[in-house]
Formats: sequence, C-alpha cells, structure tokens
Amino acid sequence: MDHFDYRDGVLHAENVPMTAIAEAVGTPVYIYSRATLERHAQVFADALSTLPDKHIAFAIKANPNIAVLKVLARQGFGADVVSGGEIARALAAGMKAEDIVFSGVGKTRAELQYALDAGIGQFNLELEEEGAVLAELARAMGKTASAVLRVNPDVDAGTHAKISTGKSENKFGVPISDAAGIFARLSGLAGLNLRGIACHIGSQLFDLKPLEAAYARIGELVAELRAAGHVIDRVDLGGGLGVPYERGKVPPAPAEYGAMVARVTRGWDVKLMFEPGRVIVGNAGVLLTRVIWVKPGVARPYVIVDAAMNDLARPAMYDAWHDFEAVVPNGERMVANIAGPVCETGDTFAMGRDIDAVQSGDLAVFRTAGAYGATMASTYNSRPLVPEVMVDGNQFAVVADRILPETIIAAECVPDFLK
Ligand SMILES: *Cc1c(COP(=O)(O)O)cnc(C)c1O
Repeated sequence: MDHFDYRDGVLHAENVPMTAIAEAVGTPVYIYSRATLERHAQVFADALSTLPDKHIAFAIKANPNIAVLKVLARQGFGADVVSGGEIARALAAGMKAEDIVFSGVGKTRAELQYALDAGIGQFNLELEEEGAVLAELARAMGKTASAVLRVNPDVDAGTHAKISTGKSENKFGVPISDAAGIFARLSGLAGLNLRGIACHIGSQLFDLKPLEAAYARIGELVAELRAAGHVIDRVDLGGGLGVPYERGKVPPAPAEYGAMVARVTRGWDVKLMFEPGRVIVGNAGVLLTRVIWVKPGVARPYVIVDAAMNDLARPAMYDAWHDFEAVVPNGERMVANIAGPVCETGDTFAMGRDIDAVQSGDLAVFRTAGAYGATMASTYNSRPLVPEVMVDGNQFAVVADRILPETIIAAECVPDFLK
C-alpha cells in the first residue's frame, strides 16, 4: 500500500497535489512519501516479529538519499552498504556504525580501513583473500573485525539476468562447496571474528522457492561448520523481495516471506540479518514528468516526456516496466510509445502501452520509482541531475537539488596546454 492517490481527479502524494510540486520544483523530479516509507518499514519489521534475534539493514544502494535514510534510521533500521561513500551516507543519516553491514564484491583496502576506523558492525567477505587482508588491517589497528562469509548457493532466483546474483557463474560470494575450507583457514586468524554466513541471490524475486532453497543450503552449511567446531552466531539472509511494478502482478507479501524464514530457520540459534532494499522504497517513490510533445509515429504516437533514461535507467537497463499515469487524467485512453529526449533508442520507457490520454504540457508519473531510480541517475546528454522531494502530510521539501549543467561544467577545467 502506498500514499499516492487521486483526490478530486488530481494525483496526490499524501496530502500534496503533484501539480503543486511541479510548480514549485519543476520536472522531472522524484517524489517520496514519508508515510509510505514508514509503512513499508513497519510491514517488513512486523513480518519478522516472531524471530527471536534479528537486525534489518536497509540496502541503501536502492535509495541512498539522506532524508530517506533518516526516516528508516528512526524506524530502527541499520544499513547494508557496498562502498565507502555509502558508509559515509549511513553515518551522516545518524545510523550507528555497529548497525552497518559492509557488503560488496570489490571493497578496496582503503574502504576496509575506513570501515574499521568507523567501527562497522559486520563485514560480508566475498573471497578468502579479502578475509586475510581484513584481519591484517584490523590487527594493525588493534581491532577485531566482525565478519561473515558470503556464499554463492548456486540457485537460480528466476529474476532478470542482470539482477541475479546466486548462480555459480555470478561474481558474488564463494562457492558453497568451498565455504567450509575457507572458513577453517580464516577463522584462526587474529584480528578476525568470523562468526557466520551470508547469502543474497538476487533482486525483484517473485517466488519464495529459490530463496527457501538457498536458505536450506545455508542451514546445512551452518550445521556442518558447527560440527567442525566453529562457533556460528550470525546468518545474513540478504534482500531481494520483489515489488509490484505492474498492476495485477503481485509478489509474495513480506508476511509470507517472514513465515517462510521462521519455518526454515527454526532452531538455527543465530542472529538473523536482513538486507531489504527495493521492497522498502520501491513503491514509496514516483518520478514526476511533463509531456513535451506527442509526436505522430508510424504505428502509434510517441509521448515524449521530459524525464529520460539518465533520470530513470531501469527500463533501458533491465527492460523494466513502470506504470505511467496522468496527474490529471481526462478519462480518455490512448495507445502510445513513451520515450525521453535522450539521443538513444534505448531511451524508451514503454512501447505500445495503453495509457491515460495525454497531450503536450500534461503532467504524468512513472510509478514505483523509489528504488534504483534517482541513485542511478546521470547527467548524460548534459542534462541536469534529477532532484528529489519528500512529502510529509501537508508539507514537502526538496531533499536533493537539481544539479545544473553549469555546476558540472564548473567542475571541469581546460588544461594549460589547451589555453
Ligand atoms: C542489492 C543488494 C541487496 C538489496 O536487494 P533488494 O532486491 O533491493 O532487496 C541486499 N544485499 C546485497 C548484498 C545487495 O547487493
């Protein structure tokens, strides 16, 4: 459930008409609903309420805006981060270092050092050598790094290839068959407290079965490690739960996921870590855009909007679907292609879509744009970096400025040899 609804024929974010935001901030602009963020955080936490010991670390790559992180920090969420920059963001949002999980397949030595300095609560190791380097860095600082080993359980998550991470050929984690050996070699190292296992098999999952299969394999591994004398007190189950991008296509509810986790992990006697991203923020955001032209096409018209692939990359990158709705629908429908102004054929949001009839100047939104939206934006075609707004009841505020080309040009310089 979200808080983007029509009132008197005008799409609102909570109590604020989209038209008011367009007038004040311009378009394109991302709009987040605080009440929706809080609701999704609550629903996810409630789904896990029967688990005795757990921690929820929001995967901040899905939406790293500081205001969004502040809302989630207040809900008791920590952060799952994949870079030094994301550590800085989580800390800036007031999250405690011990509530931060550091994932990522290519953490640099500088990033590991920064994370140790900050006192990060858990390092998710991606390979044996990373564990050895982390132990050495920690020892040199007189610290002990708390870590888990990410395994690749070799299951097909049944999602888009670019967001599948748990097949043996993917770059993530160590093969589950190698895990016991790596664990034995790393667990003796001073400076490292290797205490458990992590997995994350992919994103936008619409089926709990692959997740359940992966978790069952983790359970067997935990038993095997304990039998070998290791103390295991943590298992990180990753993220990945899907969200409904298209009306009528409904993913498993967090409550179903929670029930599955409770069943599969019964008796594990560990602290369970979760790394949800998309499911928390996806439907808490929309991308507001204005129609520039309705251009006649050979088969159907092209609705050319002022948002483009540089603002919302998912359709170009993952063939993703985003529902498109007029802010003030006139009751008519049309079948059209929807595209942005960028000079790439890939800058197309939809082909042959049945949509609210629109004409030039009309406002519209792409729904479910709160996850992997603004954070993937670029300035391609020297377009401004898209701004972000948060709505809270009757009020709204810009939470990320529109960065204009002038600002970006000012960061470039002409070298002496060209003067
Ligand atoms: C991306 C990512 C997540 C979050 O995935 P969602 O599908 O957004 O829930 C969690 N853990 C890791 C390690 C990730 O890379």
